[in-house]
Amino acid sequence: MSKSKSSELVKVVVRCRPMNEKERAAKFEPVVLVDVKLGQIIVRNPREASASEPPKVFTFDSVYDWNSKQIDLYDETFRPLVDSVLLGFNGTIFAYGQTGTGKTYTMEGVRNDPERRGVIPNSFEHIFTHISRSQNQQYLVRASYLEIYQEEIRDLLPKDQSHRLELRERPDTGVYVKDLSSFVTKSVRQIEHVMNVGNQNRMVGSTNMNEHSSRSHAIFVITVECSELGVDRENHIRVGKLNLVDLAGSERQKKTGAEGERLKEATKINLSLSALGNVISALVDGRSSHIPYRDSKLTRLLQDSLGGNARTVMVANIGPASYNVEETLTTLRYSNRAKNIKNKPRINEDPKDALLTEYQGQIAMLKAQLQNRSGKKKNRRQRRRAGEGSDSEDLEDGETEGDDEDGDDKGDYWREQEKLERERRAIMEDHSLVAEEKDRLLKEKEKKMEDLRREREAGEKLAARVKAMESKLLVGGKNIVDHTNEQQRMLEQKRHEITEQKRREREMQQQMESRDEETLELKETYSSLQQEVDIKTKKLKKLFAKLQAVKAEIHDIQEEHIKERQELEQTQNELTRDLKLKCLVVENFIPLEEKNKIVNRAHFDEEDECWTMKPITRLEDEHQMMTRPLSAVGYRRPLCQHACEAMMMKTDMRYKAENILILDMDLPTRTTKDYQEPVIAPTVAAALEEALRDEDEIEIDASGFNSSLRPTPSASASSSFKKPKSGRPKTGKKSSTPTSPFSASSPGSPLYPKLRGLVPK
Ligand code: ADP
Ligand code: MG
Repeated sequence: MSKSKSSELVKVVVRCRPMNEKERAAKFEPVVLVDVKLGQIIVRNPREASASEPPKVFTFDSVYDWNSKQIDLYDETFRPLVDSVLLGFNGTIFAYGQTGTGKTYTMEGVRNDPERRGVIPNSFEHIFTHISRSQNQQYLVRASYLEIYQEEIRDLLPKDQSHRLELRERPDTGVYVKDLSSFVTKSVRQIEHVMNVGNQNRMVGSTNMNEHSSRSHAIFVITVECSELGVDRENHIRVGKLNLVDLAGSERQKKTGAEGERLKEATKINLSLSALGNVISALVDGRSSHIPYRDSKLTRLLQDSLGGNARTVMVANIGPASYNVEETLTTLRYSNRAKNIKNKPRINEDPKDALLTEYQGQIAMLKAQLQNRSGKKKNRRQRRRAGEGSDSEDLEDGETEGDDEDGDDKGDYWREQEKLERERRAIMEDHSLVAEEKDRLLKEKEKKMEDLRREREAGEKLAARVKAMESKLLVGGKNIVDHTNEQQRMLEQKRHEITEQKRREREMQQQMESRDEETLELKETYSSLQQEVDIKTKKLKKLFAKLQAVKAEIHDIQEEHIKERQELEQTQNELTRDLKLKCLVVENFIPLEEKNKIVNRAHFDEEDECWTMKPITRLEDEHQMMTRPLSAVGYRRPLCQHACEAMMMKTDMRYKAENILILDMDLPTRTTKDYQEPVIAPTVAAALEEALRDEDEIEIDASGFNSSLRPTPSASASSSFKKPKSGRPKTGKKSSTPTSPFSASSPGSPLYPKLRGLVPK
C-alpha cells in the first residue's frame, strides 16, 4: 500500500434550508445569517431580553444558504472527494442535523428532478462519466445499502429483510459487515435501481417512514475498483470506497417518563449519535489515548472515516427559524468540533480482497479453458489432416486457421456437422451394407453428431460466461472523441476552476479578517497621545466584545453539558433501579447453587458483543455425555442384555422399555343396535295376555308350587297370596315380562317363557 504521511482535516460545511410554508405562515423569525463569502454562520438570540447579546459566529470550510443549488454543493464540496475515491482513497460524506433540516434532501434530493438531485445520484453520474472517459483502465463498481436502527444492522438490498447483520474485524481490511450483499453495477441506471430497491425496502420495514428515518442511519456504499498497468508492466489495483451516510435526526430523544422497553429504546436510538459525538471529542481532545469506536455500530463501521484512512466531509444541516435555535446551536457546535479531526488518507493499492483481482483471475481461467478446447480441436484437425491426406476440406481448414478464434470455431462446427451428415447419407444410400451394419454405423454417426453438438454448446456456454464476466468490468476510452463530451468536459473544467477560485477568495477573505486585527497592532506610531488613546480604546472595545462572546460561549457550553449530564444521570438512575430489581429477584427467588451454575456457564462473546450460555456438559468427562451406551441404541434409555432378550421373547410388561401405557380406546363388542326384541311363541303370548288382563283379580294358587319346590311348613301355611303390585309402569315391554312363572289358566303347572336374548344361556 502506498502511504502518504500527510494528514488532513475533516471538512465541515454547513447548509441552511429555506423557511418552509408552515414556518412562514406562523411568522417565525429567521435567526440564522449565512455569510457565504466568509464561510460564516451567524446566529442571534431570538429572545427579546437578550437583544443586546452579541450574535454567535461560527466559521466553517464553506457554508451554503437557502439559495444554494444542489449542483453548487456537489461541484465545490463533494466532487473533489468523489474524485479522490476514483483514485483509490476512501471517502465518507455524513449528513448531520435535526430532523427536517434537509439531510435527505442533501444526500438524495428529489429523485426525478435533475436540478434537485442530491449527492448520491450526482456521484453516480460522476463516477460512470469518469469511467467512460478513462483510458487503459478497467473498473468494477459495486453498491451496497444498509441501515442501522436501534443498534441493529439491516441489509436493505436482499428480498429477505428479517436478517440482522454482524460486524466483523480483520487485521488487514479493518471492520466490515459480514454477509452484506453488494451488487455489481454497470451503468447509472443500474446503480439507481439498487438505490431505489433499498429505499423501498426501508419503507416496507417501517410503519411511519418519517419517524423511522429520523431514528435510523442509512449508509449507501459504493466501491470502485480500478485496474491499471503500472510502470513495472504489472496490473495494479486501486480500491476506493465511498460511504454516503444519512444520519438519524440529532434532536434529543424524549426520555421523560419512559420505562422498561421504551426506556431501552430511547437510550438505544441515539446511542450511535452520542457515540459519534464522543469519538469526535476524543479525537479532537488530543489527550485521550482511547477512542471509543466500539461503543456503537455506527462509529465502529465508520472508524476509518473518523481519524483513519479516509477523506471525510460532514454536512451540517440547520433550519433558519427561531424556534429551532437551540438545536441549531447544538448542531453548529458539534460540527465545529468535528473540523479539528485529523485523518490520514492513503490510496488503497493492491488490497487482498479486491473483487477485481478475483474476476480477472476467473476470466483468465475461463479463457484458458476455452483455449484448451480450441487447442484440442486444432490437434484433432491436424491429426485428421495427417491421416486423410490432401482432403479438400482440410485444405480449407488450413486456410481459415489463424482467423478470429470464435468464427473459426463456428465454421469448424458447421463443417464437421456437414461432413457427418454427408457420411450419414452415404451410409443410408449404400445398398451393399447389411441392414444391421447400416444401423450400427448410423447410430455411431448420430452419436458423434450429438457429441459434437454438446461440445459446441459447452464451448458456447463457456464463451458466454467469459463475456458476462468481462461485461462487468468497465473499460473507458470509447467516447473520448465524442464532440459533445469534449465540450462537456471543458465546461466541467471551467466550473471546477470557478469553484476553486471561489474557495481561494473565501480563504483570502478569512485571512484578511484575522490580519486586520494584527495590523492594528502594527500601527505603533501615534501622532498624538489622544490618538493613541482612541485607537487603543477601540481595540480594547473590540477585544472586550470578543471576550464577552467567548465567555458567553463557555457559559452556553457549560449549560449544555449540565443538561446532558443530568439526562445521562437520569438514565443511569433508571437503569440502576432496573438492575437492582433484577438482582433482588435473583437473590430471593433463585437458589444460590442454580445462580452459580448459570454464572459459570455465561460468557461474553467479544465478537458479537453479547452474553451467551455454554451448553450443559459434564465437567470431568465431556466425552461421556456425548456418546450413548451401546445397549441403548434404538431405545430411549439403557437396557441390560437380559431385558433386551426378555422383551423379544415374552410379552411381559415388566421388560417393556417404553410406552407401557396402552392408550387405545377399549370399545365394547356389542352395541344397542345388536339388541332385537325376542320373538315370543304364540302360547306364551296367550298366557301373558291372560296374565295381564286383570292383574289385580288374579288368584294364584301356590300350593302345588310350594309342595313341589319348598316343602317348608311356614310357606304352606299361607295358602294363597296376592301378587304384589309392580311399582313399574306397565309399558308394553315390561308388561310382557312375566312376574310370576305361574299361569292362572293352568294352576299347578309352571309355564316358563322362552329365553330372551339378554340372558346368557
Ligand atoms: P431530514 O432528512 O433532515 O429530516 P429532509 O431532507 O427530509 O430533512 O427535508 C425536509 C423538507 O425540507 C423536505 O421537504 C425538503 O424538500 C425540504 N428541504 C430541505 N432542504 C432544502 C433546501 N436546501 N432547499 C429546498 N428545500 C429543502
Ligand atoms: Mg431524512
